[in-house]
Amino acid sequence: MAKQHRRSNHGPNQTSNHEVSKKWYSWYFESNLLYRILIGLVLGLIAGLVFKEKILWIAPFGDLFVRLLKMIMMPIILSTLIVGASSVSPANLGKVGIRVIVLYLFTSAMAVFIGLATGTLFRPSAELASITEAVGRQAEAPSITQTLLNIVPTSVAQVVVNESILAVIFFALVFGMGISYLRVSKDERIKKGGDLLYTFFDGIAEVMMLVIKGIMQYAPIGVFALVSVVFASNGPKVMGSLGLVTAACFVGYALHIILVYGGLVKVYGGLGLKRYFQDAKNPFITAFVTRSSNGTLPVTMQAAQNLGVPKDIYSFSLPLGATVNMDGTAIYQGVCAVFIALSVWGRAFSIPEMGIIVVTATLASIGTAGVPGAGAIMLLLVLDSVGLPVVAGSPVAGAYAMILGIDALLDMGRTALNVTGDLSCTTVVAKKMQQLDMAKWKT
Ligand code: ASP
Repeated sequence: MAKQHRRSNHGPNQTSNHEVSKKWYSWYFESNLLYRILIGLVLGLIAGLVFKEKILWIAPFGDLFVRLLKMIMMPIILSTLIVGASSVSPANLGKVGIRVIVLYLFTSAMAVFIGLATGTLFRPSAELASITEAVGRQAEAPSITQTLLNIVPTSVAQVVVNESILAVIFFALVFGMGISYLRVSKDERIKKGGDLLYTFFDGIAEVMMLVIKGIMQYAPIGVFALVSVVFASNGPKVMGSLGLVTAACFVGYALHIILVYGGLVKVYGGLGLKRYFQDAKNPFITAFVTRSSNGTLPVTMQAAQNLGVPKDIYSFSLPLGATVNMDGTAIYQGVCAVFIALSVWGRAFSIPEMGIIVVTATLASIGTAGVPGAGAIMLLLVLDSVGLPVVAGSPVAGAYAMILGIDALLDMGRTALNVTGDLSCTTVVAKKMQQLDMAKWKT
């Protein structure tokens, strides 16, 4: 401040210098974050290949980014899940609620399967061998029974300290549902408490969103540092693997649309696919461009209305879906988990490990906020659950950074799928409850 003041007293030259530097800053903050991250990735790649081990000093800048992400992981899961669960009123958890939720869970679990399958089929892997030795194959996945039991925490404080994600998710859901009951209580005192808690956690969730926005401003630099270290240590051989990750994700997205949504709408719902996609394409395209399920919500609602879904069904199921039903995200998490396991461990997942991933990725996709890039944060917890924690300086962090560099592209496809999933389940539930206006399907 004092410096600036002194400068401005030094005549026109100094003032224009000041303007130049201001312009530079505003370019950074005002330009599109996606492009900046992509530029960070490309420059990091070039710098790593050109400077080789001479650039390794930059590693702490990448580690800083990983630490920032890990810092917000726990509060963001706790707050968004509690808010999500407490937004559903107990009255709506009746017939419609149960059906919609079962379908959401089913399609998400199918999505993880498809992601794991296409991931295993394409076998994308970056040969990070030279930096994997330290962390190597140390991680042993826990048994499935133990993992399932561990979902129920014995001490809430302990799960937060130990970063036991599944247990945190379980607690947040139970706690959130508790709040939703308080909020509809006839006892004024209890209702007030429920509303207060809801506002409190909603406030925390909002703060965390702001913090994420801030951290993401650092992402281009963090990605630059992480990627240059990966390429400096591994050379050009890791490049093709990113193409394979992208291909595996998009083939997974396409398979999910054909097999799961096609099956759901046509076979289970007995509805015409052509007519369905006539209206479903609008939210699909909007989500693809905006990369936000929440942002697309008005368009998805309009599509539901055009398809003849009654308002009392879609006004409950679509906002819920935009928050908790993320099939595209689940596929992406499956593929990325395979990519990181192959890169770091040099092997694909065993069946029990896949079981753990199906459970965690389904839950993680539920916990993913419907905003751009949120799925990449939740990927951290999927990796954690299977013994691949993103620890600063580890090969997992390197592989994770590579994915982050192409996240925008992967996010477009997964968000489009996320909203199509909400619309498919909503339409089918309305049909099954005989509440779908079939006159709209005759055209
Ligand atoms: N962008 C996605 C959505 O809004 C979430 C994600 O990043 O996976 O649905």
